[in-house]
Amino acid sequence: MSSAPEPANALGVITSGGDSPGMNAAVRAVVRSALLRGVPVFAVLDGYEGLVAGGDRIRALRWEDVGGIIQRGGTIIGTARSKEFRTREGRLLAARHLVEHRIDRLVVIGGDGSLTGANLFRREWPSLLDELARRGDIDRSEVERYQYLALVGLVGSIDNDMVGTDMTIGADTAMHRITDAIDALASTASSHQRAFVVEVMGRNCGYLALMGAIAGGADYVLLPECPPADGWEDELASLVTRGRAAGRRDCIVVVAEGACDRHGTRITTDYVRQTLQDRLGEDTRSTILGHVQRGGSPSAFDRWMSTLVGAAAADEVLGANFDTGPKLIGLRFNRVMRAPLMASVELTHDVGTHIANGRYDEAMRLRGNSFNEMLQTFNALSRALPSSTPPPTRRRIAVMHGDGPAPGMNTAVRAAVRLGLDAGHTMLGVSDGIEGLMEGRVRVLDWRSVDGWNASGGAELGTSRWVPSAAAVEQIALQLAAHDVHALLVIGGWSGYEAMDVLARAREHYPLLAMPVVCVPATINNDLPHSELAIGADTALNSIVEALDRLKQSAVAVNRCFLVEVMGRYCGYLAAMSALASGAERIYLHERGITLDELRADVVRMRAEFSAGKRLSLVVRNEHAHPQYTTDFITRLFEAESAEVFDVRRVVLGHIQQGGNPTPFDRIHAARFAARAMAMIDQALERGDTAVRCLGVVEGQLTSRNLADALATCDRHTRRPRKQWWLDLAPMAERLA
Ligand code: ADP
Repeated sequence: MSSAPEPANALGVITSGGDSPGMNAAVRAVVRSALLRGVPVFAVLDGYEGLVAGGDRIRALRWEDVGGIIQRGGTIIGTARSKEFRTREGRLLAARHLVEHRIDRLVVIGGDGSLTGANLFRREWPSLLDELARRGDIDRSEVERYQYLALVGLVGSIDNDMVGTDMTIGADTAMHRITDAIDALASTASSHQRAFVVEVMGRNCGYLALMGAIAGGADYVLLPECPPADGWEDELASLVTRGRAAGRRDCIVVVAEGACDRHGTRITTDYVRQTLQDRLGEDTRSTILGHVQRGGSPSAFDRWMSTLVGAAAADEVLGANFDTGPKLIGLRFNRVMRAPLMASVELTHDVGTHIANGRYDEAMRLRGNSFNEMLQTFNALSRALPSSTPPPTRRRIAVMHGDGPAPGMNTAVRAAVRLGLDAGHTMLGVSDGIEGLMEGRVRVLDWRSVDGWNASGGAELGTSRWVPSAAAVEQIALQLAAHDVHALLVIGGWSGYEAMDVLARAREHYPLLAMPVVCVPATINNDLPHSELAIGADTALNSIVEALDRLKQSAVAVNRCFLVEVMGRYCGYLAAMSALASGAERIYLHERGITLDELRADVVRMRAEFSAGKRLSLVVRNEHAHPQYTTDFITRLFEAESAEVFDVRRVVLGHIQQGGNPTPFDRIHAARFAARAMAMIDQALERGDTAVRCLGVVEGQLTSRNLADALATCDRHTRRPRKQWWLDLAPMAERLA
């Protein structure tokens, strides 16, 4: 094949197969990225059906056609399943319609079926064109001109079933729907002391079931890739009975729609319900969540992730080198990842084959490390019941917070306490952070004391932003000794980390302070060292994005600029990512600074755009973006310079950003961190290791680092890491808006 592509003709974008929330954000990014490169873009309506039908089902899109769609669920260009496209005759028509529109670059957003079909179409393309020319449907010169079809795939699937990308478009939103449903069921289950069996989607993939079970605090889960051992019905009944004895009032079992036993026999939701009812003699209900899992407005993650992969897909397909074959664009460790399309699709099919053939170990291996780790965490959490005979080595582990409240803190405490109790330790809760510790506000936490903490926002233990002075250290050391604390788990933000650093440095003078300490990152600001994401940041991001949606709706009829101030202290994560997820066109960050020239250019641009018919402008400013160019100052400046073409409203979102129940991602993150932190503490106690460490996810790996070393990677004045992985995304957000 030649490696010199023709200059780009036109690009087509298709959504196909099952719809998934986030597809619109991807379409918007594909369209705008292509238009920015001067390439015409066509939407193919209703998937391959529209491609086979041609005519007005293939429509040119302009910049404004994809405005205001980022927050909409489903796909505005429609999707369908097409029988004709499975036939060569159908694909001949499809090829003819593409050539008619001068399209030889295609971005397909769909599941493994759609991507398999697309790849077949691409492979057949030269022969399809040849046949069309022989029939006289197209000109010979067109065969030459459209020699190759460049193809890039994006995975739109709520199941998160594609091997090779961490997340598929729509999976995070589906998790939101599932978690909301389980929360609702858990409250009624607990009122009636009832068991509920919940069926979620996933024929060959247990992602939604497993993560839903963790996020929803469920008791048991049944997955296609990892069928339970024979006799699982007894295990389930005994687990629920022991839970009841320990005071559990609700009982939730999550079943993936493709769950089977070790012999390949389907485990139906109704069978699980009947089993529980028969063995426990309790009223048991079942709920099949069905299509609600697909519906609704996409989550913040699905919006920013789809924008990122959509823009990368357009770049990839327009710069395609035909020698390298079609690519799949996905996400790996929050970065855009490119993989050979068919290799990923084939591995995904392999999972199904392994399951069908009973090779579950192979299926689980293809699911990757973090899926396996999360299954272990779930098993440990669901098994964790107060041990009746604690082992003789039991220790006293104190849990506390530092800095502001972050959604997911309670989830982490609940997991840590239950895992700690299960391991035979005494778990202590420190009220109000380091101040509470200094004053000796320490109490024993039993298994039931953290009931319901899985889903609740805020910080039940209380927290404090105080960093101890040298004088306070002695008092803290004495309190730790008085309460016989052997290890500390600190779930919090900057001042929690700093407080632990102060205590670590004082050990020389106060040997009582020598004990293992693990810091777990939990702050909406996402400004901590050695962790790309902190617990709480995802919830705050979703709260901001929801607020921005409402602002946008409130302004449909007027020419208005909203200048929205968001939290984050000196870290622009929330500002940049909320702008990316909501289509805001300008972002002011402390990291980039603000100059008067830029402000002038911004207001001149807005004047021109509003004069040309624009109705709404969204600008996001980090709370500390600039000491003089405050939100108030910029509002007045814009107002004064608006030439009355538009008006300006200043919106300070304030504390709603710290509130709210944790999102599924933050709950899963919290459970994962807590499980690892408790394992680290266990090991450290066993080895007599008294290091002070902080946990974090760096490039997808959950690892820990010495706290002092981690803090050294930060700028101590602005209290943020010197390197931040998301910073390059801000200019991209602005370009696409
Ligand atoms: P998903 O993309 O969500 O997995 P499907 O498996 O239903 O959904 O595929 C969507 C469409 O993709 C099908 O209706 C069909 O038109 C096309 N398609 C799927 N598999 C193939 C194939 N092997 N050959 C040709 N077209 C296919």
